[in-house]
Amino acid sequence: MNTTDSRTAQLADNLAFVTERIRRAASAAGRADAPALIVVSKFHPAADVRVLRSLGVADVGENRDQEAAAKAAEVADPALRWHFIGQLQSNKATSVVRYAHSVHSVDRPGLVAALGRAMAAQQDVDGRAALECFIQVDLSRSGGGHPGGAHGGEGQGGALPRGAGPGGRGGAAPSAVPALADAVAGTPGLSLAGVMAVAPLGSDPSAAFALLAGISAALVRDHPGATGISAGMSGDLEQAIAAGATHLRVGSDILGPRPAVL
Ligand SMILES: *Cc1c(COP(=O)(O)O)cnc(C)c1O
Repeated sequence: MNTTDSRTAQLADNLAFVTERIRRAASAAGRADAPALIVVSKFHPAADVRVLRSLGVADVGENRDQEAAAKAAEVADPALRWHFIGQLQSNKATSVVRYAHSVHSVDRPGLVAALGRAMAAQQDVDGRAALECFIQVDLSRSGGGHPGGAHGGEGQGGALPRGAGPGGRGGAAPSAVPALADAVAGTPGLSLAGVMAVAPLGSDPSAAFALLAGISAALVRDHPGATGISAGMSGDLEQAIAAGATHLRVGSDILGPRPAVL
């Protein structure tokens, strides 16, 4: 086999293994509906995305605009949906809406406004469909409110998005979710898809995802269409499925190891 063939075989194996894990977890949870699988291709080349596409993958995830924009242009497949899952600075909104089907990391009012402006301009150009937005929740801040919370706009003026410090995994405080959801729902060009979270490091993912399920249930009472729950990665997808995840974001168990995230 040549290099491409062996990479294809490897990705096919990994994909089959993860798909089987998903099927078993959904069945164990008594779920008839299998959650959607988003394959996180960050740090891996566009060639891998093409291979994934040939294996039937339609949804890929990226966490940096520069890398995602280049890869989306290189792969140039209109049937592929790109999901932006990383911390997003407002000044990248214009770029992201050119290729992204969804943003899973909406975590502050300033970003909602920036995405709304970017979408208005982009829809004038190509009439694209609404951008699906998940509100990212910081489950390590579940004590109800947090000094500075999600009302801090663009943060303290530093170069890093709020929450992106060492160990920080981003997201709005749970108490900020209703107002952010109303802002997304009230912005033309944006569609409120639901909530997203990363289980806090060193905590029990089942407890974290149960908390997220409760936040989702409250959100759906106000926004009946916003039933999405984006949760579950390579290491905790079973727990996420048990807690009702509708979208899984799986990287390393399909594509293999990548350099440590900066
Ligand atoms: C990288 C990343 C993932 C995928 O993580 P794996 O452990 O490689 O499956 C999921 N969600 C987010 C937000 C990520 O940044």
